[in-house]
Amino acid sequence: MKQTSTLPGEFELIARYFAPLAKGFPGAFGLLDDAAVIAPPPGHELVAKTDAIVGGVHFLLDDPPDLIARKALRVNLSDLAAKGAIPRAYLLDILLPKTVTEEWIASFARGLAQDQDTYRVHLIGGDTDSTPGPVTIAIMAFGDVATGRMLRRGGARAGDTVFVTGTIGDAALGLTVLRGKLTHLDTKVASFLVDRYRLPRPRVTLGPRLIGLASAALDVSDGLLADLRHLCEASGLAAVIEAPRVPLSTAVRAALATDSEHITTVLTGGDDYEILFTAPSAALDELTGLSQTLDVPITAIGRMESPSLGKKTQITVLDESGEPLTFDRSGWTHF
Ligand code: ADP
Ligand code: MG
Repeated sequence: MKQTSTLPGEFELIARYFAPLAKGFPGAFGLLDDAAVIAPPPGHELVAKTDAIVGGVHFLLDDPPDLIARKALRVNLSDLAAKGAIPRAYLLDILLPKTVTEEWIASFARGLAQDQDTYRVHLIGGDTDSTPGPVTIAIMAFGDVATGRMLRRGGARAGDTVFVTGTIGDAALGLTVLRGKLTHLDTKVASFLVDRYRLPRPRVTLGPRLIGLASAALDVSDGLLADLRHLCEASGLAAVIEAPRVPLSTAVRAALATDSEHITTVLTGGDDYEILFTAPSAALDELTGLSQTLDVPITAIGRMESPSLGKKTQITVLDESGEPLTFDRSGWTHF
């Protein structure tokens, strides 16, 4: 990295802020070598995932740096969780404009340190460079899974139940609040939603326990219906979802009470970072037990079906009276 006026040099930054985050992972060699080594436990393989976020696109330039760091890490951990993997380590590529201050980087590193404690992962390497554009962060995360057991999108079977963890729509409505809408909401409700947007809670405890129970899984990042579509397409199946069964927080219910049109945002908005999965009915008792043990809500919202003859895989969403709803760009409309 070229020396900038406001920042110490690349190696000084790495030594001061990033090397401490590699402590406790021998294969990171204290960030003093060119590359790191990850040894999965015997009988396991590594699941790898990367996600980049760009200032002004995926986060606001004046967002708190520690929250930016934690979100950047957590969106990757969410993918690992949905694949049944236990997170181990991550790489960090960070591109910094000259306007970034050392305090910004210090706060960013503190955010990472905090989440490393929570999720038991280590920074094992990366790249630091300058950019003429906005701050750009790419994290690549690695997790362990028993060989051949990674949860796939394509394993669902007709008759399987569709489940989702947690609640849906909080983050999407949180973003709506940040965009200056939903102004009539109670401040407590609004800040709950904004927090859910800023800081995902990846389901790292549940994900690995779904191996052997779930037939297919993915995390909800694009929106419940878009991600369900991905699962349907990969599995070659259709799905029927009962809208009233989709789990909603009290905050989202409060927003819907003021304007029921927000249901579109809830079902299609994204950034939930919950796990959407399918499982046969034989798995139900075990899932109920897991939900209680891990304190992770799991809700059945529909079922997988064979696609009707001549039709592509499709999703049907039923309203409270069992009438199908359809979604187009302009929102929900009855057939
Ligand atoms: P190279 O010259 O081979 O690109 P670097 O000088 O970029 O290597 O990096 C030196 C060491 O510091 C490497 O171990 C690299 O993984 C680590 N490193 C560089 N930037 C970061 C970062 N942002 N986070 C974690 N490790 C980093
Ligand atoms: Mg480099």
